[in-house]
Amino acid sequence: MNQAERSSATGGGVRALGHEVFEIDTRMAGHDKITAGYLIRTERPCLVETGTAPSARVVRDALAGLGIGPGDLATVVVTHIHLDHAGGAGDIAAMFPEAQIVVHQRGARHLADPSRLMDSARRVYGPALDALFGELAPTPAERIRAVEERGSIDLGGGRRLDSHYSPGHAKHHVGLIDSVSGDLYVGDAAGVFIEETKDLRPATPPPDFDLDLALDSLRMFAALRPVRLLFSHFGPAGEVAQTLERSAEELNVWTEQARRAHDAGLDLDHAVAMVTEQTRQRYAALAPGADPALSARFERQSGAALNVTGIMHWLEQQEQAAR
Ligand SMILES: [Zn+2]
Repeated sequence: MNQAERSSATGGGVRALGHEVFEIDTRMAGHDKITAGYLIRTERPCLVETGTAPSARVVRDALAGLGIGPGDLATVVVTHIHLDHAGGAGDIAAMFPEAQIVVHQRGARHLADPSRLMDSARRVYGPALDALFGELAPTPAERIRAVEERGSIDLGGGRRLDSHYSPGHAKHHVGLIDSVSGDLYVGDAAGVFIEETKDLRPATPPPDFDLDLALDSLRMFAALRPVRLLFSHFGPAGEVAQTLERSAEELNVWTEQARRAHDAGLDLDHAVAMVTEQTRQRYAALAPGADPALSARFERQSGAALNVTGIMHWLEQQEQAAR
């Protein structure tokens, strides 16, 4: 296939974003536009995010449609090892045997041996785990490259994807910036984004959420001066400075509301109900009369219960540390 033919070979949940970047809907649990992966189709093609284990076949087919066969993928990088981002790592590694798998050093051993990660995910999600995420298959240790504070992925032709450690959402989270396009892959560090309404909500799950680290990571992102943000949930955002400011504001609002519920001694269910009610008017996707499909998608991307649980967990750790 020549370049023009390959570029037009999109469809089936694939969208060309320019600079040879393609958004791939990885269709978590069969849903549209919840989880995105991205292909950077350069001399050394790179996939950012695998999606879940059942997503691996969706991704393989999307890459085939973009002209990337089993021997062609040079790199797979995950922003962090939560199963909606990295659950397909082992399957994708098997499907693309030449690819190196890049991950933060704190996540590397879990990709090689997923047993502890799967156990803890099962504790959080219970019986819903299988339908949501499937089973993370191990990646051969020799194919994993761990990055620390900084790392660099060679995309070929002088183009790079540089990783920057960005904890707060998870202690194994990195953001990645493309040296040519200026795209910043934000993972979950800037929250979740609905392109249709420009709504943004934080992503603050247990057990790692830490407000101060999360705000530091957002400041670090802004200092990289990206041209565009690419959200794993879901898609591109062009108004970079405003969007990152909004991310920080959302974190502060949710933490403040959860703190009030915590100080009032509410149990988790009541705290979730209170924070949901107090924040609802911030989002067009949740407004009365909004498209119910959009509201459902927004809630699936960043569930209020998981967010409040994560913030409560952090507040309790802060209290213990202060004693
Ligand atoms: Zn996520």
